[in-house]
Amino acid sequence: AQVTQAEFVKSSVRTEDCPSDGLPEFALVGRSNVGKSSLLNSLVRRKKLALTSKKPGKTQCINHFRINESWYLVDLPGYGYAAAPQELRGDWDKFTKDYFLNRSTLVSVFLLVDASIPVKKIDLEYASWLGQNQIPMTLIFTKCDKRKKKKNGGKRPEENVSDFQELIRGFFQTAPPWIMTSSVTNQGRDEILLHMAQLRNY
Ligand code: GDP
Repeated sequence: AQVTQAEFVKSSVRTEDCPSDGLPEFALVGRSNVGKSSLLNSLVRRKKLALTSKKPGKTQCINHFRINESWYLVDLPGYGYAAAPQELRGDWDKFTKDYFLNRSTLVSVFLLVDASIPVKKIDLEYASWLGQNQIPMTLIFTKCDKRKKKKNGGKRPEENVSDFQELIRGFFQTAPPWIMTSSVTNQGRDEILLHMAQLRNY
């Protein structure tokens, strides 16, 4: 399930503008600064595939990367970046929701959640929206290498992960699959790729 080829294909603002070749795709989404670009780069074993920018909230489009010429990784705008103007944020919201609801080749949304900090309300809201709309979701917990810190609530990543799972239980008929990851140690990378391969073969 390794990535042997990865190429940036296009940035789209609307669902209709996304690639139309029918290849299956997985969308990565999460709060700004959750570690999405790092994870994307770790998955494809490159330093800079993602059009990263140090400024959170910069990637405002639906970015398609074709993998092994047979499926897509899709980078969606990060949410919850406070410095983005309100209307702009509303806009992303509208177009990402439209994408989730109408993109027929979307196999699963990979919702990234930072496991090094206590549960955030905005992540719960996102997960619950996906659950209520019956959009297939996989939970990717990021930064699992980080040690607990008092200022971060003093909990270990494992504890933050189980808190999160407990809090979203009511939104899903069956608990979504979940994977603990770190872009520093590459924990979870092979597991994610294997999971994606399994989902493609259903
Ligand atoms: P994005 O805004 O979601 O794309 O987040 P980035 O990938 O740019 O990462 C945000 C910050 O978190 C950066 O300072 C990264 O170095 C750090 N980071 C990302 N992934 C990890 C991880 O797995 N472990 C640790 N310790 N830090 C990470």
